[in-house]
Amino acid sequence: MNAFQELGLDADLLQAITDMGFETPSEVQEKSIPILLQQETDLVSLAQTGTGKTAAFGFPLIQKINPGSKKTQALILSPTRELCLQITNELKLYSKYKKSLNVVAVYGGASITEQAKSISRGAQIIVATPGRMQDMIRRNLADISNIDYCVLDEADEMLNMGFYEDIKSILSHTPQEKKTWLFSATMPKEVAKIAKKFMSNPVEITVGSKNTGTANVSHEYYLVNHRNRYDALKRLADANPDIFSVIFCRTKRDTQKVAEKLIEDGYNAAALHGDLSQNQRDLVMKSFRTRQIQMLVATDVAARGIDVDDITHVINYQLPDEIETYTHRSGRTGRAGKQGVSMVIISKSEVRKIRTIEKIIQQKFEQKEIPDGKEICKIQLFHLAEDIRKTEINHDIDPYLPTINEALESFTKEELIKKFFSVEFTRFFNYYEKAPDLSSESSGGRPEVSEGNTRYFINVGSKDGFDWKSLKDFLKEELNLERDDVFKVDVKGSFSFFNTDEQHTDLILSTFSEFNHNGRFVNVEVTKDKGSDKGGRRRDRGGSKRNGKNFDKKGSDFGGRRRSDRTEKKGGRKANRSKNIENSLKRRRSKA
Ligand code: ADP
Ligand code: MG
Repeated sequence: MNAFQELGLDADLLQAITDMGFETPSEVQEKSIPILLQQETDLVSLAQTGTGKTAAFGFPLIQKINPGSKKTQALILSPTRELCLQITNELKLYSKYKKSLNVVAVYGGASITEQAKSISRGAQIIVATPGRMQDMIRRNLADISNIDYCVLDEADEMLNMGFYEDIKSILSHTPQEKKTWLFSATMPKEVAKIAKKFMSNPVEITVGSKNTGTANVSHEYYLVNHRNRYDALKRLADANPDIFSVIFCRTKRDTQKVAEKLIEDGYNAAALHGDLSQNQRDLVMKSFRTRQIQMLVATDVAARGIDVDDITHVINYQLPDEIETYTHRSGRTGRAGKQGVSMVIISKSEVRKIRTIEKIIQQKFEQKEIPDGKEICKIQLFHLAEDIRKTEINHDIDPYLPTINEALESFTKEELIKKFFSVEFTRFFNYYEKAPDLSSESSGGRPEVSEGNTRYFINVGSKDGFDWKSLKDFLKEELNLERDDVFKVDVKGSFSFFNTDEQHTDLILSTFSEFNHNGRFVNVEVTKDKGSDKGGRRRDRGGSKRNGKNFDKKGSDFGGRRRSDRTEKKGGRKANRSKNIENSLKRRRSKA
């Protein structure tokens, strides 16, 4: 007897399960399915991402639905459109042998009339995102007043996304007697609140300890200087030639930027974030699934619930704001029994966050060094050799062989191999031969003052109630930057200084071009001095001179903005400097 049969599933489902190639139930399935089949009860089921929760509710749900009736009997709420479609597709596979069962997906960004039409043809199960479901109800396009079951899938993510009010309102349109099944990877307070408020005596199932990541995922972190993040990412990709990965960034802007850079650098990459149209997102997901894209750069929101198996690496280009989100990210890999790696690129000041995450996932991180150029070349060479070994010979070239043989006649096998690898490999080799070491130790740690940094003057200071911390927060907020992006914040009386990576200069100057804070005109300008008041710090080893532009040249692009030659040197020029600044402020204020 098949292990799924023992759970009490019927023949139609068992056949579909066999077709899908599932052999044994996962733990959450083993624990949830019998209860849901045998009892009419509310249920809270907690299990990590990738453990098969969809089938844990999907199988029993399909068995319990009456396909003979056309009325809507179940509503499944899920956080995103992608997930909504995924669940719908899964349910269709499960119900392959239940011909009259209709599952309809309801989500934003597609025609609501089409979706309403599908429902009106009879949808026993609706799978919906909360926002669109609300619209449907408001416009009387769906009737959920008689449902028997409501599933809240990925409840933690729905709440993370701020769907609490929507869920509450949707549930108010469902009958009191329906049963609610809640599935979630984690159990934050908000989920507990939902369980308490909207469910009665739910059976609780926990697989593994709460909040832990999948044991199939190993966790690694790499310490780098903030400005080396991107180069570090490239090396991680190059050191893993078969990489198939999701790279997480914190903002849409970074997501887009990193993806664009990767594409420019010749990687099969694409961005996935909320500013793309649905169409674009679909295309990206399709190319990712079919592996035309090897590196998908995504925001947390856009990547929610992406269920693509065989993802080899999750790369945290930046750590998430909410540490809990890390579990969701790393859960994108190590699915369906496979091994995966979750990598985090961090700067020194973030190491304590790693410790916090270790506590949450109850797993240790391994600190690793960004591979150096030599290592990467070695890996790539062996990979190429392995590719050659595995390649099936294409006999279509047989007719050309005599001529080719003739041309290469005088070489030995060794020589031929060397030549072949040189053709394939010289460019790569040259690139990495001179590449610097990227580990944070070797380049002096943070905050580093280098030509890659820009120092700014800002006309607010302690008189405006700022200290270095609150000014840093203010800047971070306004600019949507990471904490570590703003450093060397030095607050004076009526003005302050701070540094950022050179790459943020345009953003900062444009953000503060006509900026008002509490009725005060806030002005930011680039200063020439870089705040190297401590001395002895090492200079960047040429990295910032890329594109033949060094800081000062770049600075001159903004020449018009920084007439007053501000410096921040200690000693003799200090008085002079303050005077300059005060004068300039006066000019500014009178203008404002
Ligand atoms: P979760 O919702 O817990 O994150 P999913 O339901 O999306 O996980 O399942 C993750 C993957 O595992 C899917 O590709 C699914 O088809 C597969 N899967 C689920 N159950 C089994 C099983 N019993 N045997 C093999 N694969 C399974
Ligand atoms: Mg799921």
